[in-house]
Amino acid sequence: MEKSDKIFVAGHRGLVGSAIVRRLEGEGFTNLLKRDRAELDLTQERPVAEFFAMERPDVVVLAAAKVGGIKANNDFPVEFLLDNLQVQNNVITSAHATGVRKLLFLGSSCIYPKHAPQPIPEEALLTGPLEPTNDAYAIAKIAGIKLCQAYASEYGETYISAMPTNLYGPNDNFDLLSSHVLPALLRKAHEAKISGASELMVWGSGDPRREFLHVDDMADACVFLLKNYDSPEIVNVGCGEDISIRQLAELICDVIGFEGELTFDATKPDGTPRKLLDVRKLNGLGWRPKIALREGIASTYQWFLEHELEAAAPAR
Ligand code: GDP
Repeated sequence: MEKSDKIFVAGHRGLVGSAIVRRLEGEGFTNLLKRDRAELDLTQERPVAEFFAMERPDVVVLAAAKVGGIKANNDFPVEFLLDNLQVQNNVITSAHATGVRKLLFLGSSCIYPKHAPQPIPEEALLTGPLEPTNDAYAIAKIAGIKLCQAYASEYGETYISAMPTNLYGPNDNFDLLSSHVLPALLRKAHEAKISGASELMVWGSGDPRREFLHVDDMADACVFLLKNYDSPEIVNVGCGEDISIRQLAELICDVIGFEGELTFDATKPDGTPRKLLDVRKLNGLGWRPKIALREGIASTYQWFLEHELEAAAPAR
């Protein structure tokens, strides 16, 4: 990639997109294209096609998606399926129509079967049934991977796909009903500490295991792949270690300084029992994460404190 390349980061206000913009700008890429939802609705075919025809980006990072935690995915499968299909279809077809040189599609670790071997290798894709609480989102993401691969095989396009594990960091969604577990517990621990509460409620049994990667590491991996990887075969992005939700809650309480008890709400779903990615492929290419979980939680908490009011607002 050249520093002068015109790079369209779709979803530049989100958790991943904003981290990729920070990373690219920090490295001296000066020609970034950004459009917020009011300027360009990516679910609409014609405006997206017109935008691409007018701007003709060299490179596209497709980080725009409807995302959410276990409850939002479970409650709104139509939106998670349809919005994501529309956004990715519009962006990918327009990229092809206007000669985009390289496109990075961002998937998710939830594309893999519920009972995939752990850690989950890339080859586990489509080898078994999905976890029902997020299968709509997963099906959309799998369709995006297949569309990128189809453009690669049929038209020779360089459309690559990265599958991140659970991400966290600045610009995350801290709304308790739609967020993922890490920002939810961070906010709950903060509010419990401030109010002097004696308990903090954790959803489910606390037994499921999840892997967490700071979004700045994810952005670093994305830029690494844009520079060093051209294959249509998907690549997992993770840190290679997981912890239980109970351990995560304890770590967050420790970092934040909440000393009350944890309680567990068995009426909430556990979701998939374990979701640890096999990251040997990415490691083999020469990439490693840099931000340890405790350190990442501490810096995300600082960010939350500085942006508390906007961060705690319901998801956009
Ligand atoms: P998932 O990784 O797709 O299952 O999505 P989440 O990040 O939303 O949830 C991960 C796990 O954390 C699930 O087992 C949840 O039940 C559990 N969990 C515990 N407390 C919370 C919470 O306050 N919010 C969310 N979203 N999940 C929680």
